Amino acid sequence: MLIKLLKGFIFFFCLQLASLAAAEYYVKPHAYFDSVKGSWVYGKKIRIKNQKIVSIDDAGLKTVIPVVDLRSSYLLPGLIDAHAHLFFTQTKKDSSFENALEREARLGSDVRTARAKDFLKAYLTEGFTSVFDLGNSGQFLDVKLRDEIHDDPDYPLLLASGPGISNGKGQFASGAAPGVAGQEYTLINDGQTDWNNILKPYLNHHVDILKIYFDNDPSSGGLSSDDAKRILQTPGVKNFKKITAHAIAKSSMEKLIESSLTNVEHASMFTADKRLKNIFVTVTGIDRASLKEFDYFKEPFYQYELQIAKQLSKNGNKILFGPDFYFHSDAPGFSRAKKIKQTIDFFKEAGFSNKEILSAMTYNPALSVKMNKLIGVIRPGAFANLIAVKKDPLLDIDSLKTIECIINKGRNFCPTGIR
Ligand SMILES: [Zn+2]
Repeated sequence: MLIKLLKGFIFFFCLQLASLAAAEYYVKPHAYFDSVKGSWVYGKKIRIKNQKIVSIDDAGLKTVIPVVDLRSSYLLPGLIDAHAHLFFTQTKKDSSFENALEREARLGSDVRTARAKDFLKAYLTEGFTSVFDLGNSGQFLDVKLRDEIHDDPDYPLLLASGPGISNGKGQFASGAAPGVAGQEYTLINDGQTDWNNILKPYLNHHVDILKIYFDNDPSSGGLSSDDAKRILQTPGVKNFKKITAHAIAKSSMEKLIESSLTNVEHASMFTADKRLKNIFVTVTGIDRASLKEFDYFKEPFYQYELQIAKQLSKNGNKILFGPDFYFHSDAPGFSRAKKIKQTIDFFKEAGFSNKEILSAMTYNPALSVKMNKLIGVIRPGAFANLIAVKKDPLLDIDSLKTIECIINKGRNFCPTGIR
């Protein structure tokens, strides 16, 4: 009898293991976050097969499929960083951003890629399951990395942009060697107007996000609204998930409006203008403490950034979280990914509600790249990229700073607690 029982138990145990190997399981949270409505859904369990969510069923539904027990946790879609520079760092030793640009551009591709992989891995442990890389990544190093890690559950999903398109010497200082500047940006000088030719490498590399520069802040130059209009008319551009403009200065705001682009990065010196209403704005504000740590804090500019971020949100603009955080330190324990999470404090100080911050980190960036059925949401058909936290982030957004566990590309990294 005992042997029979034991055999039965072993059989049942093997069945559970087999199911896990087939990567089909349920996750049963206390509640899951509906990022479209911005509210919790209770009494459900999420069925995951391979890399996708296949259904959302009643928690009480009887099943032989293993259940990952997260009954005391809140489950959210994996977070999205909409503006990262994985291949770029600026340290305290760099006397300016332009100096950092020059130093980084001279680094070997292997060094930059190995470092980017470390950054990206750390992003995942902090709950970011999607990262949009916005350039300063040499000649399509971000595209190569995207393709290399595509199915690897140890890395977030990466969207790549290739070199940003501008003119002059891009964001390099006026004295920089043109060859070096041309490694980091595609520079449209000498009256080039053949946009088919200019965009060809971007289309061939299946770039996800095309990034252009309306200003080269802190350097001079920038594309015109006519350039942007011609880009929008170039065959094939519909293949980009989005076309976005780096625009800081007030004059760039006018170019943005004239061009009919629908995405912008920074917008730091903009005003809340009704004509901007339906534009997705990636707010790149970094929290006060981190800016002070890297000697970049200036109260008046910081206050302006806080105000404009909140006003654009009130203006009806969709706000995306993307801190543009590339400061780096070799000090033990320094983590870029952790610092990026700390920039939530910028949104708090700007007066965003927790619900607005969650939208900026999930649904809005997904919508901006037309991937709102795949990422930033918990729904059947979406990628099984999920995070669990212990406390309700709608009540306390800081709960996102401590991620309990992650499910990425369908792989369960949560304590099994299988029932
Ligand atoms: Zn940036």
